[in-house]
Amino acid sequence: MNSNLISKIKKLLKSSKNIVIISHTNPDGDAVGSSLALYTLFKKLNYSVSSILPNNFPSFLSWMNASDEILICSKNSNKCISLLNNADIIFCLDFNSPERVDKLSDPLKNAKGVKILIDHHIEPENTFDYIFSDTKTSSTAELIYNFIDALGYKKLIDKSIAENLYVGICTDTGSFSYSCDYPDTFRITTELIKFRINSEKIHHLVYDTFSEKRMRLIGYCLSEKLVVFDEYKTAYISISKEDKKKFDFQVGDSEGIVNYPLSIKNIYFAVLLTEKDNGKGIKISFRSKGNFSVNDFANKHFEGGGHRNAAGGNSYVTLDETIKKFRELLPLYKNELNNTVL
Ligand code: 5GP
Ligand code: MN
Repeated sequence: MNSNLISKIKKLLKSSKNIVIISHTNPDGDAVGSSLALYTLFKKLNYSVSSILPNNFPSFLSWMNASDEILICSKNSNKCISLLNNADIIFCLDFNSPERVDKLSDPLKNAKGVKILIDHHIEPENTFDYIFSDTKTSSTAELIYNFIDALGYKKLIDKSIAENLYVGICTDTGSFSYSCDYPDTFRITTELIKFRINSEKIHHLVYDTFSEKRMRLIGYCLSEKLVVFDEYKTAYISISKEDKKKFDFQVGDSEGIVNYPLSIKNIYFAVLLTEKDNGKGIKISFRSKGNFSVNDFANKHFEGGGHRNAAGGNSYVTLDETIKKFRELLPLYKNELNNTVL
């Protein structure tokens, strides 16, 4: 980490009292794990610190220490906005643009506190005061480990901080199956394992606590909703409002579904389109293998972005219209998709 920048942050921390940690909407394991790790550290250092998120995190993360102390804007918006207004420092974790915090976007932009971004997404926006961005890393959690180390607080890492960071690394790499071709990822994981975090139990809590309905939703998506285009090496799945109702859909229930089509031989591009509640449009998840950039695809056509092999986007027309638009785009990418190399 840039030592000049770290010296400035150390100075800043000395003269600050109120810290807010914020992460992106539809928070995943990396967003929650990174937030909780930094939250726990600053609590130990006796700061007045809050962790805020635009909307709730999936229940498979609720076992994490102090997760019940996270403030959720969709439930407690006034409190979140007032914390942002009064913060001396705002840590922005695991996102690259203020738009990614939904309704907290304007309050974040207008807040007078110093904004420090720690993130691994492509092309962070210039609206932050200090930026720690590295795309060649597994997760924001990995960067948080290095940040804590660089600040000289490695000794304050305890079992629960180690668990938080492990969840971030593990979930952002699909249990160490992608985005982890970096020695640092395994070096840091080794350090975390030394805290006797019980990785087997963590895997159980994160991946093996589905409701029966969530499991059946996956089965339904794979048998009834999967559409494969061999000529484009592409497959997509859509989940309508009716599907959600049928399977009593809860936040996080579609987590991981987008990855399944990539297990089909010769499929390199997978898409999941999910109708949001209350007519708020369609959330789209994109995944790829190899050099096909879903970040570019999401950015160009669906107001989104993310990483080369994992990105998200949005559409504000109906599900059918969104699917039509997506299908019509595929011929434009035929060559690129057919020339994908791993
Ligand atoms: P997911 O499909 O799991 O929601 O997101 C995959 C990746 O894309 C994550 O790194 C996430 O931060 C990013 N992402 C998801 N949705 C959006 C979006 O609407 N805009 C941008 N810029 N990034 C997104
Ligand atoms: Mn991440």
